[in-house]
Formats: sequence, C-alpha cells, structure tokens
Amino acid sequence: MAISYHRPTAIFVDLAVIKENVAHAVLQQQGKRDVFVAVKANGYGHGAVPVAKAAIAAGATGLCVATIDEGIALREAGLTQTILILGLVDVQWLPLIIQYHLAIPVATQEWLEEAWSVYQNERLSGQVYLHLAIDTGMGRIGFQENQAVLAAVHWLENHPSFVWEGIFTHFSTADETDTAYWKKQNERFNTLIATLPRVPRYIHTSNSATTLWREDVGNVVRLGIAMYGHNPSGGLLPMSPTLKPALSLESELVQVKKVPAGAGIGYGKSYETKQSEWIGTVPIGYADGFVRGMQGFYVLVEGQRCEIIGRVCMDQLMIRLPHSFETGTKVTLIGKNQEEVITIEAIAEHLGTINYEVLCLLAERIPRHYL
Ligand code: PLP
Repeated sequence: MAISYHRPTAIFVDLAVIKENVAHAVLQQQGKRDVFVAVKANGYGHGAVPVAKAAIAAGATGLCVATIDEGIALREAGLTQTILILGLVDVQWLPLIIQYHLAIPVATQEWLEEAWSVYQNERLSGQVYLHLAIDTGMGRIGFQENQAVLAAVHWLENHPSFVWEGIFTHFSTADETDTAYWKKQNERFNTLIATLPRVPRYIHTSNSATTLWREDVGNVVRLGIAMYGHNPSGGLLPMSPTLKPALSLESELVQVKKVPAGAGIGYGKSYETKQSEWIGTVPIGYADGFVRGMQGFYVLVEGQRCEIIGRVCMDQLMIRLPHSFETGTKVTLIGKNQEEVITIEAIAEHLGTINYEVLCLLAERIPRHYL
C-alpha cells in the first residue's frame, strides 16, 4: 500500500499522550501487575511500532498482537520485550515463532501434539513460549474443560522445549453495567487456577474494561483501547479523565466553489442545493476508512461544523460551507479545531458502531505523523 504523503490528509498521533495514558495504567497496578499493551491492527490505527516504543518507554513490559506478521514487524523494529500473539497460529509456522521469539496461545491438546510433531520432524531447537487460552464464556478460543487444561499442563511438564509461560481468558462483558456474566466467567477462571498443580509466570484476564472497572486474579493486564485514550464502553461507564485521546485526523479544502440552487452534489445526486451554496471538497474518502456512512455527519473548518453532503466518494468528500474559505484551509475530521471537537465516539455513534472500529478502519494510506 502506497502511503499518500503528497496530499494534505494526515493522522497526527501525540506519543506524549500515549505515554501518559500508559504511565497512568502502570501506576494503577501499584507494582502488582505487568502492563502488556495491545498494538494489534497497526496499534488500533495509530501505528504499531511508534506506539509500542512509547508504551515501553512509559513502563509497559509486553506487547500483544493478533498475528505472527504483526509480531515479526515489532521484532524487526527492534522491540525485545515479550510479544504475545492473541490469535491461534498454525503449527507449520513454529520455526518462525521460535526464530522471532513470539509467545503464542494454545487452545487444544491436538495442537500441542501436532506442534510437537513439527518440532521433531523439522529438527527444531529452542523454546516455544505458550499461553494456555481458556474459554470461560467468550466462545472464541480456548480450552473449555478444566480436565483438558490439566492434561495439557501434565503434557507440558514432559516437553520442556514447550515452555508453559502463561494462562489467560478473555471477558465478553467487562464493558457493561450488568456484572453477572463477567462474574461467572471470572469464577470459572479462578476455579481453574485453584485446581492447577502450579501456575505459570503470567496469569492474565484483563482487557481495558476489566482493568478499569473490575478486580481480577491476574498478574498482567492486556491494555488496549484505554491506552489510546478511548473508553471501552463508549460512554456507558465513566473513565478517568486522565486518559486522553492521542489521535487526530486533518485535511484541507482543495477546492471551494459557489454553486447555484438545485445543483446535484456527489454520486447519485443524493444532495441538491436548496439555494446558492458554498461547497468545499476534502481529499479523503471511503478508501481511507472514512466510510460512506459519514454522509450527514460533519467536519470542522475554523471552529465551525460543516455538514458532509452527498455521498462520500472513494477518495474525496464534499462539505457545505457557511461562506467562502481559502483553498488550503485546515479541515478537522477527528480532534479539536478552535473550540469544537469531533470525537471518535461521536463518529461511532453516527455510524452505529464502536470507537474501536472507527480507529481500525483508518487506512494505511493515510500518513501518520508523530508529535
Ligand atoms: N486481550 C484480547 C484477547 C483481545 O482480543 C483484546 C482486544 O480485542 C484485548 C486484550 C484488548 O482489549 P481492549 O482494547 O478492550 O483493552
């Protein structure tokens, strides 16, 4: 993907804000837990490597990614901390996993046995760092039965090249007001931990929501959205105002024109001017992750809300201006412009989705600048 440096659309990420958010989370753990940060999906759209480096500088001790390739990218950028992959990996990639020293989840006994065959057949050497994934009610990945976990633990005792480094689960409702299901999942996990003959180095269950609003048994938290300064519940549960958003998205007016009443704007002529109107064109579109559903929302120009009119195109969109502006005038799509702010959460609400998705949609072709 070519990064489009030669157009005036860019993301700005304030790494000092990321550091403050991570430092706050580290402080909250009072030295009792490690903070691993989730930098999967290109650091929730912020850029994985710069965010990972900032988080480590602020006290995080591990990094979580979704795929092997995301882990390799961090290693190649020089990060030496624990890198935990959160998604299941195929046994054929064991050589890469060892080479890049990536920790991986295990969800079945079959995987262990197949991985051991690969290890032997390919005459691999070195250690494989494993975290047993426990499905306590998310229904995604992990062992369901305690007996199966105990069998895996026993198997691992007899295969020292496979290091049992962690055990974890993932909560599905930690961001909701009703705590009943969270408690059920937590109880299942705690019961399992109590039956283990020993525990591994890392026990982890906390995503941002659990870190913010619940008490769990783990000695590591997996902090994602809160590190980026966003509320895991959208706005349902209150989040500390210390945590601040780090990302803004800006562009410029590339054309400003006055059109007569009755003019069609954009594909499908879905907007027609009611009177003579000033129209501005902004070089961002759905290929940038600024999706068609943004029609009817607004951007900020000199502190004023300007409606996105007509359909959002692949690379451009049009806005209605209150009056003429110079081409080159700044347009804020996310963030502050004079006294007005557009939050990721307001966009999520407009789109009927969650803040996570808005961030992850921001395409790689938008350049990221770090402050
Ligand atoms: N842990 C796991 C297993 C995840 O899948 C995620 C995110 O999807 C996280 C932690 C981080 O979650 P959050 O961004 O809500 O903190």
